[in-house]
Amino acid sequence: MTEQQIAARDQRFRELTSIDDLLRQMKVELKRWGHEPVTSILRDIMTQVRADISRGLTPDISVATIRQRVNQNLSADDLPSLIPVLNLTGTVLHTNLGRASLPAEALAAIVTVAGSPTNLEFDLATGKRGDRESHVESLICKVTGAEAATVVNNNAAAVLLVLNTLALGRDVPVSRGELVEIGGSFRIPEVMTRSGCTLVEVGATNRTHLKDYRNAITSTTALLMKVHTSNYRVEGFTSVVDESELAALAREHELPFVIDLGSGNLVNFSTLGLPDEPTAAQVLSKGADLITFSGDKLLGGPQAGLIAGRKDLIEAIKSNPLKRALRLDKMTLAALAEVLKLYRDPQRLVEHLPTLRLLTRTQLEIRAQASSLLTAVQSALSPRYEVTVNDCYSQIGSGSLPVETIASAALRIAACSGEDLDLRALSDQLRKLALPVIGRTHKNALWLDLRCLETEQHQAFTAQLDSLQL
Ligand SMILES: *Cc1c(COP(=O)(O)O)cnc(C)c1O
Repeated sequence: MTEQQIAARDQRFRELTSIDDLLRQMKVELKRWGHEPVTSILRDIMTQVRADISRGLTPDISVATIRQRVNQNLSADDLPSLIPVLNLTGTVLHTNLGRASLPAEALAAIVTVAGSPTNLEFDLATGKRGDRESHVESLICKVTGAEAATVVNNNAAAVLLVLNTLALGRDVPVSRGELVEIGGSFRIPEVMTRSGCTLVEVGATNRTHLKDYRNAITSTTALLMKVHTSNYRVEGFTSVVDESELAALAREHELPFVIDLGSGNLVNFSTLGLPDEPTAAQVLSKGADLITFSGDKLLGGPQAGLIAGRKDLIEAIKSNPLKRALRLDKMTLAALAEVLKLYRDPQRLVEHLPTLRLLTRTQLEIRAQASSLLTAVQSALSPRYEVTVNDCYSQIGSGSLPVETIASAALRIAACSGEDLDLRALSDQLRKLALPVIGRTHKNALWLDLRCLETEQHQAFTAQLDSLQL
């Protein structure tokens, strides 16, 4: 630095307004954000300004600019991180997008109990301590036909708790064809190890016979377990043992028979025009002693793990100390109860439960919806992109009926340049909208499957397209 530059730099340091003076001129900010956050961000900004001056730069040090920087920083910190998005991926129960959306009844119940003391574990009839599961247990029993039930944080926790309660230190035979991984973070063999039991693999990947289970049973066998292989299917030369046969074998050896159903469907899917999937009640009636399933997959409720079946086994599970670590909170219990109540009336169910409402929308209806949106989307994206209405297939998602798809329709967007880069630029822009739009890239185009775009969201979807910077 020349002597002149050094002099200029020192002059700039002298011109800096002190933090105290700046604070005195930020009455509005102090009132809005509070003293501590404003001071802390102001210190950070001034440290940055000093560093810039030291390096010979000439940052804008006017009070107005510094105020603006404080406001920008604090506003950004104030934005919620978890926000709604439009799921146009075509996967209805998308794990990364939070799976099931709750019905209005469940949302209202959450708000009601969240902001107030409740009778969560308080029996209003006797004034004594109550059971938090009393709010949902009989509802679960009604929809599954089970004699008892309990609930935990998710289905992974349900499997962990069942095995830890009934098979700690003992063996559990499972078919090699059922040692599934779900979403990378849940692998049946790993959960079994952590639950404290020993996995005994039986059969082969493609074929497992009843005699394989029979040969695996020893004096250290704790129970027989079947895992619903919900996110893939082995095809070709295959053989699996039917639930009723396994149930009979378990009974013969006086062992509990447990099924991890994964998704856990509660209604007859074929009557809704959906791919057939046995219901929880059907599986129990085939002789399972316990079933476990998710609350936020096909059930359409909040994240939860439901365990239903034999009363003595449920009692044992409830008294496992781990249960306390895995239990549900009042908001989830309130939401789950409302969702389960909808199942009492199958007629209203499809209308009221978003998951089933979305899954049962017809291709005809979605095609018409796509056509009605075509002009608005095309004019927002032209001339760089070409938009067409195309048929496509939606997936149920979350490992429910993986190979079954549902006919749907999409807005298919292709870059006129044919360049991958342009397609990616559009996906990026759509994700950055105030209500981010998440589509699916497939065969050199971006597909917006409209199955999960409800009519009320049309306005919000199209209005923001003008802000795309293409
Ligand atoms: C989804 C699934 C799980 C895990 O359920 P979460 O509710 O996500 O914890 C476990 N087992 C099977 C078979 C599944 O499909």
